[in-house]
Amino acid sequence: QVRVRFPPSPTGNLHVGNVRSALFNWAFARHHGGTLVLRIEDTDLARNTPEGYASVMDALAWLGIDYDEGPGVGGPSGPYLQSERFDTYRDVVARLRESGAAYDCYCTNEEVEARRKASGSKVQGYDGHCRALTDQHRAALEAEGRSHVVRVRMPDRPIVFDDLVRGEVTFLPEHVPDFAIVRANGDPLYTLVNPVDDALMGITHVLRGEDLLSSTPRQVALYEALEAIGIGTGAPRFGHLPIVMGEGNKRLSKRDAGSGLAEYVERGFLPAGLLNYLALLGWGIAEDRDVFTMAEMAEAFDIRRVNPNPARFDLKKLEAINAAHMRLLSVQELEERLLPFLVEADLVADPPTPEEQLKLTEGSVLVHERVGTLGEGADMLAFLFLDEPVYDEADVAKLLSGDGGRIVEASHDALAALDDWTTPAIEEALRAALIDGLGLKPRVAFGPVRVAVTGRRVSPPLFESLELLGREASLARLAGAPR
Ligand code: GLU
Repeated sequence: QVRVRFPPSPTGNLHVGNVRSALFNWAFARHHGGTLVLRIEDTDLARNTPEGYASVMDALAWLGIDYDEGPGVGGPSGPYLQSERFDTYRDVVARLRESGAAYDCYCTNEEVEARRKASGSKVQGYDGHCRALTDQHRAALEAEGRSHVVRVRMPDRPIVFDDLVRGEVTFLPEHVPDFAIVRANGDPLYTLVNPVDDALMGITHVLRGEDLLSSTPRQVALYEALEAIGIGTGAPRFGHLPIVMGEGNKRLSKRDAGSGLAEYVERGFLPAGLLNYLALLGWGIAEDRDVFTMAEMAEAFDIRRVNPNPARFDLKKLEAINAAHMRLLSVQELEERLLPFLVEADLVADPPTPEEQLKLTEGSVLVHERVGTLGEGADMLAFLFLDEPVYDEADVAKLLSGDGGRIVEASHDALAALDDWTTPAIEEALRAALIDGLGLKPRVAFGPVRVAVTGRRVSPPLFESLELLGREASLARLAGAPR
């Protein structure tokens, strides 16, 4: 029975790398008919906020990543907020100390550093000095008023595991010193609570970013020590997902622009498009196929086919994949999804008036094949809802100066004389006036009209746009457009 987990630390805007981890765990769980556990790693009380928690929950809901156990849905291994599990951690630490797998360490960093210098050792990290303290020693150190951390005793042998993505991975003991699991003030550390909860929650597979690979040997030792005291069944299987690279071949870090989920939500990417793209950061459904749904991913997902090589985050590719998912929406779905963006931009009322609703419905048909995101769609339809379009300065300068003025005037006059305000009639009248009348090529003729009416060169189809905007507004814009 497969049990995987997604354990975000609720420190704010989720990183796209974390979203990818959530997705791969979700797909793995669904593929195997297993269980996805959501665990909130909020033991660092200084860094986690209620907003951070809310933002994780909102993000998962927006993405449509459903989990089987966790906050809100419950389950047999709760509570799923680590901040509600401190008693458990205290108890586990006591048992680890009793068994000898963990010990109290009174050394300061300065002392460890001084000893390393004196011995000329090249080995970084803790030297095991407090491993063999007697009760007498401890009493003396306590009497000095010293505090202590708790460390795990690393075995004196290599830690070897078979990574589901990278194959066999080996860490030599000199590279993995004894590590702290409890701070001097008694707070449990990530190094403790993450594997302890994996063990207590029966996690069978851990799929996570390669940036965490260096903590895996420590965790493997701890899962083994936990098993020895009757907690869990030893280390889960690991699969370390490839590093996500940003600009300049550097790891995409939390501080980089474009690394947070919120930006994509705001720009109006579709969850399906974003997830499809994130799946491609390490996985693919087939050589000749980039666009797929989450359900298709779950069906086909195979962790052993994840590529261990670094994956580059490519915004252009993300936009292309998202555009493909935009086209997969029905026009009605598009309309429903555009509405909140138009409301947010103060372009339509909530709920829309019947006239706004009509423009939205017809406008959605016009932009359906033309926009890459919902934000772009709302932006492209804005001219329908504004009293005056927002004129693009460069487009105005280029298309409404010189000959443009004459073209706009001729269009105005031709349309003013028109009785029948429909797309075919509008097209016919403009062609007669500009192509036959002024002898212009279509490529030259319609650009100025478009800019005068919509504010810019790129817009939904022109004749349809004019019909939708209506006679009065169209004529007013043609008469009053900037020059
Ligand atoms: N809370 C950790 C993080 O968000 C979990 C890492 C893991 O998957 O083990 O980075």
